[in-house]
Amino acid sequence: MSDTVSVHHDVQRASEREIERAAPSRSLAPVVVSVSAGSPAAGVGVRAGDEIVQINGDVPRDIIEWQMAADEADVELDVRRGGLDLAFSIEKRAGEPLGVDVSSAVFDRVRTCDNHCEFCFIYQLPKGMRRSLYLKDDDYRLSFLYGNFTTLTRFTEADLERVITERLSPLHVSIHATDPDIRSEMLKNPRGAMSLRWLRALLDHDIAVRGQIVVCPGVNDGAVLADTMAGILDRFPELESVAVVPLGISKFNGEAAMRLHTVAEARAVVDIVDDWQDVFQATLGKRMVYAADEYYLMARRPFPPVDRYDGFPMHEDGIGMARTFEAEFHGRTDDATGVRRGFFAAVDAPPNPASYTGLRSASSCGSDVTARTSISLRPRRSAPIGVLTGELGAKVIGPLIDSLDRADVRVITVDNEFFGGNTGVTGLMTGEDVARTLAAQPEGHRYLLPDVCLSDEGRFLDGLTVGDLPRVVEIIETDGIALRAALEPA
Ligand code: SF4
Repeated sequence: MSDTVSVHHDVQRASEREIERAAPSRSLAPVVVSVSAGSPAAGVGVRAGDEIVQINGDVPRDIIEWQMAADEADVELDVRRGGLDLAFSIEKRAGEPLGVDVSSAVFDRVRTCDNHCEFCFIYQLPKGMRRSLYLKDDDYRLSFLYGNFTTLTRFTEADLERVITERLSPLHVSIHATDPDIRSEMLKNPRGAMSLRWLRALLDHDIAVRGQIVVCPGVNDGAVLADTMAGILDRFPELESVAVVPLGISKFNGEAAMRLHTVAEARAVVDIVDDWQDVFQATLGKRMVYAADEYYLMARRPFPPVDRYDGFPMHEDGIGMARTFEAEFHGRTDDATGVRRGFFAAVDAPPNPASYTGLRSASSCGSDVTARTSISLRPRRSAPIGVLTGELGAKVIGPLIDSLDRADVRVITVDNEFFGGNTGVTGLMTGEDVARTLAAQPEGHRYLLPDVCLSDEGRFLDGLTVGDLPRVVEIIETDGIALRAALEPA
């Protein structure tokens, strides 16, 4: 269930709500979706369904401005309710939660990307999926809120000023190559050549930035990748860390130049990252760059030991997930590392501050086992167990399950026929593929499904839900602790 990898591209965390709201015909005002009982907002009569007009005299552009205003001690809230304009004056302690969840994170329009990267996974989606999945965002606010990567090609002086003033940190920036010509060619955008100047400006103002390099074989691997490492050392040494990830390829890829890595190419990437980690360590005192778990699987090499990950700074980007999962599964840690993430993980994200990376407090990262099945239909606890996972996840989980030496537990690999290509990650499992796989499995067994393949509203990427599956499944969090707990004998 754990997935060691995720398909990496700049829009993997696009938020469906943001995207839906990008449609020009929609109202842009945020709507109150819930009011906490006993909260200051509830005390004055704010209700779910109220449309936010202003807070403290301003029209908030996004959840960041909303949160800052809502944190003040005195809050003036103007709302529209069924054609009526209402005003609320709320007195509370500064920093005390207002008690209102609103319907989206970005209230004006999400800034879309004007790049045309050949490796973009959006272009490789089949037709007919949810409209929201097709939006290419390139918005620094989503970078702050969700960890989406931005290329900065549409970044402006005003954006820089806001990031600095409001300390929107960390941000996540797609680097790909530091050579201007290669970067603009990869982004298919002339502005790609110079937009890393904004990265320099962000670092100059002490904004923490995490970088990403999506490696396309024959384009920015080999000498280009080594040159990019040198460019980072020379021009951007203040970066927090840089994830080196392979491009994702689906069977719908129409770009002939975009292809899977060979084993030799994957090994070369791992070697370059290893070599440059030593250089960075010697010069900057930190390893800086990390190869995605997927690279070690492709290269058929063992994952680096835990201490080579330096606290897993880019865990959410598929760096070190195999090692943390292993440690969790074997009980070497009491806490799951990071938070649930996956392909389009922010799609349907619940509208509360804990959903947003940049606003989230550590305490919001739980690891409860979740079971959304009907109790009456659930197989008995002692039934044989099938652990559903993607092709790549199986390579990590398989040995862990084997180590238990239990005949009643098996890994069930879900081949990704929906996307094809190299989409063997668990986060990309679709309902269609899971249903087909389960149909061939016996009834009466327990089937564990990792939550990383579901949106917060319980939908697979293809729109199916667990209710559409031919077997009852237990949804568990995608970490080793949750899996271990689910496998505990009755
Ligand atoms: S075109 Fe490039 S920058 Fe734009 S969303 Fe796709 S991968 Fe990201």
